[in-house]
Amino acid sequence: PPAIEVLGAEKVFSNGVRALTPIELTVNQGEFVTLLGPSGCGKSTLLKMVANLIEPTSGGLMWWGRDYDHVGEPGKKLVFVFQDPTLMPWARVRANVRLPLDLAGVPKSEGNSRVDRALAMVGLERFDASYPRQLSGGMQMRVSIARALVTEPNLLLMDEPFGALDEITRNKLDQDLLDLWFEKKLTVVFVTHSIYESVFLSTRVVVMAARPGRVLREVVIDEPYPRD
Ligand code: ADP
Ligand code: ADP
Repeated sequence: PPAIEVLGAEKVFSNGVRALTPIELTVNQGEFVTLLGPSGCGKSTLLKMVANLIEPTSGGLMWWGRDYDHVGEPGKKLVFVFQDPTLMPWARVRANVRLPLDLAGVPKSEGNSRVDRALAMVGLERFDASYPRQLSGGMQMRVSIARALVTEPNLLLMDEPFGALDEITRNKLDQDLLDLWFEKKLTVVFVTHSIYESVFLSTRVVVMAARPGRVLREVVIDEPYPRD
């Protein structure tokens, strides 16, 4: 089944703002889909519905062909990466990345080796004992990605994760994300308002427009921008 099906889901917030008109969208397993559009077109709202963080006003969604409460299959897991890294400032990098495993009751020794692998994936293996404030903005974002990857998700949902970073750091993280997607066979849904980023990263661009929030068109890109 597809990773995600959005079946005519719409969203009207309690203050009356219609953030999304009914959306039809399918994300197949292994795709890298970007949601592209101006501020206010409902990208975040759509991504949060996909994460089951926001309930649609009407219409529905399916995850791997089931409703959210019945996903249940092992290895069908989604994670959400917010725009800012939201790390615990009082805890070292290792403890930050291990948090989801601690919450899930994963034993310490297994947890530590999974943390080591996740930190290696984002190139921060030498920073496990640092505190967040000792790291640059780009490195803190990598820690937050490691914290997402440590759960071994199949579906990675990212809400403008590199939007606050300078262009050089952002290009580097974009490239690393593409490598991860390729190696781990992840499914990714990525919100951006950068045309460059959407074309560079995705297998498909979903172009949205505002007032009211809707999908204008979808552009299929055979392969993400060729890698060296
Ligand atoms: P984008 O991510 O494309 O910038 P959003 O999904 O954040 O757009 O917002 C879409 C519209 O819904 C905007 O008009 C925004 O002001 C409104 N909106 C978002 N969240 C809420 C909320 N919790 N309550 C009321 N209106 C909201
Ligand atoms: P910013 O987000 O502030 O632009 P970067 O993430 O590019 O910063 O990193 C800032 C500094 O930290 C650079 O000097 C860079 O060499 C160093 N740095 C970043 N990541 C690593 C890493 N994995 N290993 C060693 N040094 C790193």
